[in-house]
Amino acid sequence: MRLLFLLLAILPLALAAPKSAVARYAVRYDNFRIYSLFIDNGGQMEELKKISQEISVHFLNELAGPGNSYNVIVGPLLHKYVESKLEYLEIVYKVIVDDLQKLLDKSAVDKDTEMEWESYHTLDTIYDWVDKECAAHDYLECKVIGQSYEGRDIKSIRLSKREGNKAILLEGNIHAMEWISSATVTFLLNQLINSEDPEMQRLSEEYDWIVVPMVNPDGFVYTHEVERLWRKNRRPNGASNSSGLCYGIDMNRNFDYHWGGAGWNIDEPCDHWFGGDEPNTESEILALQSFVSSFDDGYIRSYMAFHAYGQYVLLPYGHSNTEFPPNYEQMKRIAAAFSDAASEPYGSAFTYGASGLLNYVVSGAAKDWAYGVKKIPFTCTVELRDKGTFGFFLPSNQITEVGVEVTAGLKALVNKAAEEGIFD
Ligand SMILES: [Zn+2]
Repeated sequence: MRLLFLLLAILPLALAAPKSAVARYAVRYDNFRIYSLFIDNGGQMEELKKISQEISVHFLNELAGPGNSYNVIVGPLLHKYVESKLEYLEIVYKVIVDDLQKLLDKSAVDKDTEMEWESYHTLDTIYDWVDKECAAHDYLECKVIGQSYEGRDIKSIRLSKREGNKAILLEGNIHAMEWISSATVTFLLNQLINSEDPEMQRLSEEYDWIVVPMVNPDGFVYTHEVERLWRKNRRPNGASNSSGLCYGIDMNRNFDYHWGGAGWNIDEPCDHWFGGDEPNTESEILALQSFVSSFDDGYIRSYMAFHAYGQYVLLPYGHSNTEFPPNYEQMKRIAAAFSDAASEPYGSAFTYGASGLLNYVVSGAAKDWAYGVKKIPFTCTVELRDKGTFGFFLPSNQITEVGVEVTAGLKALVNKAAEEGIFD
């Protein structure tokens, strides 16, 4: 399955260099469309893969089989060609974004602001905020757990106000382009530190919280400075294609639990979903794994990885849709509590269940490693807003709403998990 998702280096780079504060990226997407395609059968799937090899289009979802919708970015010179191909193949499609650059411009990044949750921020602003909170509160223990491939710090914060608490770990931004992830994780941390809501204060008192807000700092910086749509880390992975060297590993495909047993595209180094030649190869996830392993067994009782998008609480396992964890029913009840509560503020519905069932079968995710290897009894991937309207490019004016609904969900999740004996 050779899928070349290299976007178009040629077209965007040929356009004018950014001049205004709004035009921030080296790569621009003026008049690029996003098409949503529904792939009905295996024949269409095969043809779609051929198209992706012939021309430069950028799929936003893994091509995991028929019966699914896929979003694909197409440059202005290729609209007509792609539409006529789709019509010939009788693939149902619609244009969901007419000008991607306009959408990206709504994800405002203000490089001068202090940390708040109405715009997206650079790595420096996020880390400066973390450092400031750490300096201000004795109950926060902050440390650098390792370095990325390009040498950036991976920071962690542990909040502990009481001896003997059990811990909940929140993981952010392992996928570079999913900015809402670190925005939400820092929102939650800020609530735990600074909220005056008595329920939040209680959770901050009765549980320890371990937060790694930015697992992929290199990729994140790259999405700010060069290519908004980058997903992986930035280590040259040894392969190359017509655009040059291929970079990066999809780090949420690199964890070693039933690694490589199932999944799509994991052997294509230039794909956005390349899981590595073998598991546990990336310095970022090795740092995260040894950090998790540095705590006593049984201390971390819940591991939550935040991603975008689709509004799911994905439970183990990813590697199978016929094998389920021993306490799967219990995890579903806990996820249901999150889902019910998270829908209250604004009506956002979160679907929950095993990722191999709800999403597709794929191995190497953090939540499966945390459950299967580290024996943490409740683990999940939370796919945040939305359900496809903006997808990976959620406008910054939704950050606070996402934070509010996830806070509501998290409170209910922790209480339900306590009732179920997860923290005993
Ligand atoms: Zn993700």
